Amino acid sequence: MIARTLLVCFPHVDDETPFVGTMVKHVQRGDRVVLVFATYGEMTSLFGDMSQEQIQKERQAHAARLEEIIGCETRFLGFPDAGIGTSREEALQIAALIAELKPDALITYNPVRGHPDHRHLCELLRDAITYARLPRLVAPASAHRERVAFYVTYEPASPYPPMYVDVTGQMEQIKAVMQIYADAYDWSVEGIVERRKADGAASGVEYAEKLSVMQGPQPAVDYLVRP
Ligand SMILES: [Zn+2]
Repeated sequence: MIARTLLVCFPHVDDETPFVGTMVKHVQRGDRVVLVFATYGEMTSLFGDMSQEQIQKERQAHAARLEEIIGCETRFLGFPDAGIGTSREEALQIAALIAELKPDALITYNPVRGHPDHRHLCELLRDAITYARLPRLVAPASAHRERVAFYVTYEPASPYPPMYVDVTGQMEQIKAVMQIYADAYDWSVEGIVERRKADGAASGVEYAEKLSVMQGPQPAVDYLVRP
């Protein structure tokens, strides 16, 4: 088996929660999973009046826990929170990351709605994949010319087809990650379990994570209905 590289890239720590099971599965298969946060999320009001330096430390501690539970690598890019744009310079910064990691697949936010950081980072990643194909733009790194499968969060209003990943065997890690956020800011572990269960029911497994395919292969199924 060839080990693949999955790049999961979001603006903020905690954006990754819909895909914890998917990441764990890839790690368990022997793939390299790199979870990249574009910002430190320093504009959040979830930590009350904590200073920006303290928030940064708090986020790094969360990332260290994510590495332990998921088995992934984590990184911060240091973009300003609530300040991600769609400039060529920013796309080139992301292109350097693409050229370095050479991902086979990528997950980020669906651009149809939501926080500007979420929409803009999706745009930057799409541009970065194109820029990373050009040797002159990413030197001294080598260009990444392989096709990158591009997945985004599921949004009902989005034109991209939905897809489900069976995460029945990864629920312990999903709950452990949700517990970090339940402890930090009152999120519900039960809520995410219910959602996985509903997405599992919709896809014929016990628990599933749902995403949308922006660009990538649509796997063939054996039959139209399960026996
Ligand atoms: Zn976010």
